[in-house]
Amino acid sequence: MEEKIKKTDAEWKAELTPEQYDVLRKKGTERPFTGKYNIHKEKGMYVCAGCGSPLFSSDTKFDSGCGWPSFFEALDKEKIKEVRDLSFGMVRIEILCAKCDGHLGHVFDDGPKPTGLRYCVNSLSLEFTSKEQ
Ligand SMILES: [Zn+2]
Repeated sequence: MEEKIKKTDAEWKAELTPEQYDVLRKKGTERPFTGKYNIHKEKGMYVCAGCGSPLFSSDTKFDSGCGWPSFFEALDKEKIKEVRDLSFGMVRIEILCAKCDGHLGHVFDDGPKPTGLRYCVNSLSLEFTSKEQ
């Protein structure tokens, strides 16, 4: 098991932008089609904006048309925690960074082959690093 990152609310608030804080720590959702990675197509890695844990590869990113960055596969399932989310009268699977418990988005089962999954993630929860780095 990887070591967890635990910080107080005040520490997160000081470290993150107000927008990142709202999504990562308060489970907010950025408005669709506004995120900086929605139509981002560079090759590289998407890491957690809260703790830097590697979460998704650009190789698994696809254009879902839903307005948020979408991936059909997690880089490492151990790095993403899934929780049943019953808010808004829906049954959804919330996805969180397993290391810092930051809210990422939701995973749905209407994605493309080979996994059939669609990890729908807020751009604000991610930081992109190009492959060269
Ligand atoms: Zn994290």
